[in-house]
Amino acid sequence: MMQIFIPLNFLGFVYREMKGALANIEKMFSLLTVKPAVADTPGAPSLQVREGRIDFEAVQFGYNDSREILSQVSFSVLPRQKVAIVGASGAGKSTLFKLLFRFYDASGGAIRIDGQDIRSISQESLRRAIGVVPQDAVLFNQSIRENVRYGRVDATDEEVMAAIRHAQLADFVEQLPQGVDTLVGERGLKLSGGEKQRVAIARALLKKPPIMIFDEATSSLDSRSERGIVASLQEIAREQTTLVIAHRLSTVVDADKILVMDQGRIVEQGSHGQLLEQDSHYAMLWRMQQQERTPVMGEESPEAP
Ligand code: ADP
Ligand code: MG
Repeated sequence: MMQIFIPLNFLGFVYREMKGALANIEKMFSLLTVKPAVADTPGAPSLQVREGRIDFEAVQFGYNDSREILSQVSFSVLPRQKVAIVGASGAGKSTLFKLLFRFYDASGGAIRIDGQDIRSISQESLRRAIGVVPQDAVLFNQSIRENVRYGRVDATDEEVMAAIRHAQLADFVEQLPQGVDTLVGERGLKLSGGEKQRVAIARALLKKPPIMIFDEATSSLDSRSERGIVASLQEIAREQTTLVIAHRLSTVVDADKILVMDQGRIVEQGSHGQLLEQDSHYAMLWRMQQQERTPVMGEESPEAP
């Protein structure tokens, strides 16, 4: 057995760092109510992202045996396409991205990225390739700058600031007493849902992975910052494969493809125009949302709360 000698004060340092990191990760998992339920196969190779194509092939899934949440879900996202997923709450939209990120394994079918079954490659390489802006972003008890840098720890200050600007956070940050060095999180400044999402968007922009997932990322933004973010998203969606789980029409209309989910199934897919023409599920959702939104759609009207 090899013996390793490490100075005790160094071990103490490692321990303190690890404890902090573990507490954050544990908190992240508990907040996402996700427990790590999958393991790498020994010696699993890294994902090789060539183009960024995603295929769901007859995917089946349930969080437990008693209820199936996804049934026979099949769709493809071609390289650099933007695909939007819409549907009622509880339809299974967020579950789709949890499977793509491999928080869980599908019980039937397969998910492939550029032809590679995500069960056969290392989770670390999978998660490096995918950026997620979750519905409820988790902030650490650190400065805004460090919270954004978490997207890519070796990013320069200039890159961090550029991500903050692109995520439409710059005006907000300027008003803070210590600017980007202001502490946020539970023990610092509490941010609103929309501000937290913008920090998460800045993180994802900094990471710039080949595949991006936005889970209703604009749902709690006012309409002005939403327009700015939609513009940034359009910019990155040109270069990256983008999946948007969307509530707002503005993020859906220009998508290459819209998937309409209902009770764990894809009931319709096509472009905005095609789906309106079909005059079925999507057309109905569209009309409903337009009625809801009419008072806040006009440029001159006050911001949505
Ligand atoms: P959507 O994002 O479309 O609103 P979700 O994918 O979050 O829907 O949820 C789909 C279904 O799965 C819902 O009925 C939800 O209650 C259930 N569900 C979501 N997460 C869990 C979980 N961790 N454990 C058990 N059931 C869950
Ligand atoms: Mg959801």
